[in-house]
Amino acid sequence: MWFSSQGSPILGFGKKSSTTSGPIVPLKRTLQERVVETESCYFCGDGRTTIGNIDRDMIVFCNQCERPCHVKCYNNGLEKKKVALKVLKEYMQFRFLCCEKCQLLRARLDEGLEKCEEIAFLRPIRSNICWRILSGMNTISDVHHYMPQIIDIFKDAFAETTAEHSDVIADMVNAKDVDGEKDFRGMYCAALTVSAHVVSAAILKVRTEEVAELVLVATRRECRKKGYFVLLIKSIEEHLRAWNVNLLTAPIDPEMAPIWSQKLGFTALSAEEKKSMLEAHPLVMFENLILMKKSFA
Ligand SMILES: [Zn+2]
Ligand SMILES: [Zn+2]
Repeated sequence: MWFSSQGSPILGFGKKSSTTSGPIVPLKRTLQERVVETESCYFCGDGRTTIGNIDRDMIVFCNQCERPCHVKCYNNGLEKKKVALKVLKEYMQFRFLCCEKCQLLRARLDEGLEKCEEIAFLRPIRSNICWRILSGMNTISDVHHYMPQIIDIFKDAFAETTAEHSDVIADMVNAKDVDGEKDFRGMYCAALTVSAHVVSAAILKVRTEEVAELVLVATRRECRKKGYFVLLIKSIEEHLRAWNVNLLTAPIDPEMAPIWSQKLGFTALSAEEKKSMLEAHPLVMFENLILMKKSFA
């Protein structure tokens, strides 16, 4: 991650940038295994199920909060009950939402999809900076235009990220479910664009109102040190506040932690806090990084 330590003003896309100052460290992202995989029903606390049967005792994971729940317990709160097969079908289509809160949050997130919000005007090139929220799961959109650019930006910034048989960065950007093993569905890309170019981008996951994750964030190499990075983070924070999200977490390289705390107001979690956070929330975490947070409550 790169950051304009001088807080320099935004100069515009395509202008000559100062790529000579400051150390350029190729950053590495290696996925860490999730801490817990609780399979007890969120509603009744019971983990009993009939494995292999599609019936009312089946446990299904909510496609928003990812909490497990029995079909029967989910139906308790509904006037119009759903049969297990219908619930399973919704889950496969990433539309199974366990409660009203999850439905509301999904609606809020999807509301912004494909909209271009003009957030600043660049005088030198007479062009707007746009905020966009994109989902790789949305196939009928501009996604095809922006996603390859976002993948390139991340691959350039996290050049040492190599996984032997997979392409983690592309899978996350495209929100793919990789063989049921690594399920990146529900990840969104937040991006700043200038004309048709992505200048800065982040992978954002908002599971519940309790906590959102900034999984990756980077700025296009030739656009660094122009203030786009801070503008992107500020725009993300603004939108999270509007969605009533209380906390943002981000896995950060230890050497970048001072910048995140001094310039962006994040605080680092202690080892103990990180452990309990990862137990409570199945966050995406990378090896050898520290976890930082910022509260909006
Ligand atoms: Zn239950
Ligand atoms: Zn839910």
